Amino acid sequence: MSENYDVIVIGAGPAGYHAAIRCAQLGLETACIDKSIGKSGDPAYGGTCLNWGCIPSKALLDASHKFEDAQKHFSEIGINVSGVEVDVAAMMARKDQVVQGLTSGVAGLFKGNGVTDLPGRGKLLAGCQVEYTSHGGEQQILEAEHVILAPGSVPVEIDPAPLTDHLIVDSTGALEFQSVPERLGVIGAGVIGLELGSVWNRLGSEVVLLEALEEFLPMADERIARDSLKLFANQGLDIRLGTRVIGAKVDAGAVLVSYQDGDGEHSLEVDKLIVAVGRRPYTEDLLSPDCGVNLDERGFLCVNDLCATDAPRVYAVGDVVRGPMLAHKGMEEGIMVAERIAGQKPSVNYDCVPSVIYTHPEVAWVGKTEQELKASGDTYNVGTFPFAASGRALAANDTGGMVKILADAESDRVLGVHVVGPQASELIAQAVIAMEFDACAEDLGLTMFAHPTLGEAVHEAALGVAGHAIHMVNRKKR
Ligand code: FAD
Ligand code: AMP
Repeated sequence: MSENYDVIVIGAGPAGYHAAIRCAQLGLETACIDKSIGKSGDPAYGGTCLNWGCIPSKALLDASHKFEDAQKHFSEIGINVSGVEVDVAAMMARKDQVVQGLTSGVAGLFKGNGVTDLPGRGKLLAGCQVEYTSHGGEQQILEAEHVILAPGSVPVEIDPAPLTDHLIVDSTGALEFQSVPERLGVIGAGVIGLELGSVWNRLGSEVVLLEALEEFLPMADERIARDSLKLFANQGLDIRLGTRVIGAKVDAGAVLVSYQDGDGEHSLEVDKLIVAVGRRPYTEDLLSPDCGVNLDERGFLCVNDLCATDAPRVYAVGDVVRGPMLAHKGMEEGIMVAERIAGQKPSVNYDCVPSVIYTHPEVAWVGKTEQELKASGDTYNVGTFPFAASGRALAANDTGGMVKILADAESDRVLGVHVVGPQASELIAQAVIAMEFDACAEDLGLTMFAHPTLGEAVHEAALGVAGHAIHMVNRKKR
């Protein structure tokens, strides 16, 4: 093993592995250190996203959605099935297989691109030196021209609900249940709580989500959040807002949760409890005191817009720095830093980061919400289009939700696009592209969309900004 590299990356999650591969593509001698171990006992690259986050949760969301469709909705489209059953062990095994395939795929990409993978822990020392400790405990000091820190994040734990082995779990534990709990409690009705709650609700659990805030999904557009709440409640998710959990204890094989709401103190008995109250940056034993990298008051590594830390030639990307904790945001930061190290001048457009909640229907958005535009005093026009009026959504028996587009009143530039509906995660890409190209709502309206597609709802909402969607009655004639 060499001791000198152009670039050492610490962390092989989406932010770190994208950075490492792009550095190697650009001809830089690159090593990537990661401490994660998979279920097989081998190094497992891909970080939270591939091992315990995006991918396993989507494997279970897709599988449970198919089950629910077969059980509840096939008969509506003329398909009668009987004896539909869940095999949780098989579902989990398939999820693990998908994870295994992808994590070993990252190892293959490292090899193919010439990235040296170093399984173990990395610690930044002063002067761009890195202390590498292998899983076997051998230590070595490596030298680098540049260091990229990408150590990611871990679930937040709260004192009222300490984790236990199998009954009170975090998101990682919730991806490993071996049977369907009859009664499931979830603390936090944020993105992760809603996704995991949906999985187990579809598979048959009675799910109660306890959310401290009075407002549902405060980061989403208010109208979309309101419509989503109704759609989720209709699916049987019992979402209790303004409800703060103050205690949880295991009692006779069940979990007794105590919580406070406007009416006082209550308790709830469940078979399992998922704590999904957010994530925090992970920097344990990452930095020597003299390395020159600073943390902010919330524990994130301080960086500028270009992800440079306070230490010369040291960068930080992904969940460990400010901004939304999303895999794709970290990937773009990783690539930007790699290209900047190689002398190119890219930047990340933080105004165009899409957010998605992979429930059914999905919720997705990019840009400003209506409440943000109101608060900043911007003038805007709104176009909306419901999936109930989309030929493709009707044909697919999937008509919940709408598209909402906000455009500047003067310039018509698209300022925000918000979707709750089928395949919102795919539809939002159309909006991101439009906004990256600084499109006006009229540009989207003048673009031809294939018929019949769900994308036509985006087209119609864009036409609606100027008041002339075709498949809606417009009172104003424009
Ligand atoms: P991580 O993925 O956390 O990777 C960091 C890696 O660095 C880890 O392997 C860690 O072990 C390693 N490491 C840390 N410190 C050291 C050290 N000192 N030495 C060596 N190695 C170290 N995001 C989305 O965009 N879409 C989704 O659908 C989505 N779903 C999610 C579902 C769940 C249940 C969860 C928990 C998260 C989800 N996320 C999703 C968030 C997403 O997983 C994170 O935003 C993303 O993984 C962050 O990437 P990262 O590279 O910054 O860090
Ligand atoms: P997110 O950050 O999107 O994963 O959402 C986590 C949610 O958990 C937030 O909306 C918090 O308000 C909520 N939360 C945090 N602590 C508690 C608690 N003790 N009881 C109920 N909800 C909580």
